[in-house]
Amino acid sequence: MSRTTVATIHLGALRHNLERLRELAAPAKVMAVVKADAYGHGLERVARALNGSADAFAVASLGDGLRLRAAGHRQRIVVLSGPDQAGDIAEMQRLGLDAAIHHESQLQWLSEASPIRGRVRVWLKVDSGMHRLGFAPERAVAVHQQLATMPGIDPDIGLMTHFAESEVFDGERTREQIERFRDATRGLTGPRSLSNSAAVIGWPDARGDWVRTGGLLYGLSVVEGKSGADFGFRAAMTLSTRLIAINAIKRGERIGYNGLWECPEDMPVGVAAVGYGDGYPRSAVAGTPVLVGGQRVPLIGRVSMDLITLDLRDAPGAKVGDRVTLWGPELPVEIVAAQSGTISYDLTCGMTRRVLFVEDEE
Ligand SMILES: *Cc1c(COP(=O)(O)O)cnc(C)c1O
Repeated sequence: MSRTTVATIHLGALRHNLERLRELAAPAKVMAVVKADAYGHGLERVARALNGSADAFAVASLGDGLRLRAAGHRQRIVVLSGPDQAGDIAEMQRLGLDAAIHHESQLQWLSEASPIRGRVRVWLKVDSGMHRLGFAPERAVAVHQQLATMPGIDPDIGLMTHFAESEVFDGERTREQIERFRDATRGLTGPRSLSNSAAVIGWPDARGDWVRTGGLLYGLSVVEGKSGADFGFRAAMTLSTRLIAINAIKRGERIGYNGLWECPEDMPVGVAAVGYGDGYPRSAVAGTPVLVGGQRVPLIGRVSMDLITLDLRDAPGAKVGDRVTLWGPELPVEIVAAQSGTISYDLTCGMTRRVLFVEDEE
């Protein structure tokens, strides 16, 4: 049985995007963020495509660090939420993983780490205003001093913070966060890391010594109204399927579950073999663009588990078997995300197990 929904991962785009990030971020080093299975593109695949050219990888959990080491990658790997339990420290030492340290509970575990297994490299995470993970700014100096005295810790301690809305280029909050981080870490030695993808573009004075970029590596933007291509990045995923039916439907008839869309005239309605069971968003509204053989046509009716319906009035040449593209270089995923009330990251992360992944060198 062949699967019709295919996610094509463009390896050349990934390499281009990393180079572009390097240019924009220079002289800062680039941490390639590959959490959530590389934003749905495949952790091992993306790491292999970048083939040693990222200065470091960043992952959400120790398990992903293990996968990268098992695949033979020797770069620094930063576990963005650090150890979750005491036993993780020895594992991180064994695998040579950097740990982001954000909470008092982790200090106790680290203080018991034996230097014999190799010193743990740590990044002290400061909460400069996002209020998710991190030490309060007024604790930064004391925690830094405490870490510096621990025998199992590498004395070159990194300093890190994360922005809540760096994609708002004229917003106040990022400016405040930059200042709070600067004040909290003044006088402390060690490399600084503040910027995610949007900050690399919009907040050059937050560049620091390391940027931590995920989205743009995959050609994805979270800046409102902009796609990755608008900043010189290339989409690294194409999601495509086939047209499996074209039906002539009469004026006044209603299409799909709950009859959400009514035909304004007698018209051809296309059916494509993709749905929320593949990760195409069920929340996509009528009018969301879809490419049929290169022609943009609007989605109509409710997205089903396995199928979507399309208004083919503007695609008179469409025929059963035609390739249907849901997103990719010719149709930015950011547009589909905006029509679905979410962001591009959410869509690429949401590919399900029945989607067939293939690679393309372009
Ligand atoms: C996910 C994440 C990033 C990367 O964010 P992008 O917007 O994808 O570049 C950077 N830092 C931390 C702490 C993260 O969790």
